[in-house]
Amino acid sequence: LLRAVGVRKNFGSAEVLRGIDLEVHKGQVVCLLGPSGAGKSTFLRCVNHLETIDAGQIWVDGEPIGFRLRDGKLYELKEREVARQRRDIGMVFQRFNLFAHRTALENVVEGPVRVLGTAPETAREEALELLDRVGLAHRADAYPAQLSGGQQQRVAIARSLAMRPKLMLFDEPTSALDPELVGEVLAVMNTLAAEGMTMLVVTHEMGFAAEAADEVVFLADGAVVETGPPGEVLSAPKHERTRQFLARVL
Ligand code: ATP
Ligand code: MG
Repeated sequence: LLRAVGVRKNFGSAEVLRGIDLEVHKGQVVCLLGPSGAGKSTFLRCVNHLETIDAGQIWVDGEPIGFRLRDGKLYELKEREVARQRRDIGMVFQRFNLFAHRTALENVVEGPVRVLGTAPETAREEALELLDRVGLAHRADAYPAQLSGGQQQRVAIARSLAMRPKLMLFDEPTSALDPELVGEVLAVMNTLAAEGMTMLVVTHEMGFAAEAADEVVFLADGAVVETGPPGEVLSAPKHERTRQFLARVL
């Protein structure tokens, strides 16, 4: 479903991504691990076309991100068409960026009504179902400030799901949370994974990677160092760089 080939990204003279190849098949969970500054967030932002890439290609569900394929040639998309591609890709960040002046329910309803043109009443029903799925139906009318970090993050996940994404990107969704709130967010992500959602997850939660991931990709200095099933990469890493990283986080 997601295929990245030779993705390069520079910020000025800094080579932040140096030819990334990565695949996530439909229904798979892939965890992206690596030290700070490795380029994990940058890669996710490229998938979502929040950054343009300098070389390589990224395909989501057969479509080249930022381009249209016609007669074997790639044509750059206009901003409006990029927005259409982006709709299929949900993203959850470290910081739950909910609209502060809207309730949990209003946060979830907003996208479908405004972007997908869903009738408000239908969007409301679907939003209530989604809030129920993340265990927050009873807090539908609460404002973000009245919710814990873990609850806010679960609303953020529900809000992403309301757009019916084909692919979900998570960028350290639990690392801004108090330790006791991490579990409830990971539980929601585990459920999503079990339901067959295709997910690319940047995380330092090795327990989640070990349990939920089909594949683990270890990134360092803008390049893929090692990739494989979690049982191999986490328990028997082949590369010294991976071993050093795991020794620090485990
Ligand atoms: P962390 O674990 O700390 O979140 P990361 O793997 O997500 O790290 P990135 O945020 O992708 O790393 O950053 C990779 C490198 O690119 C870093 O050296 C960072 O300073 C640089 N970088 C990221 N965004 C920009 C930008 N907009 N302009 C210039 N440099 C940037
Ligand atoms: Mg990051």
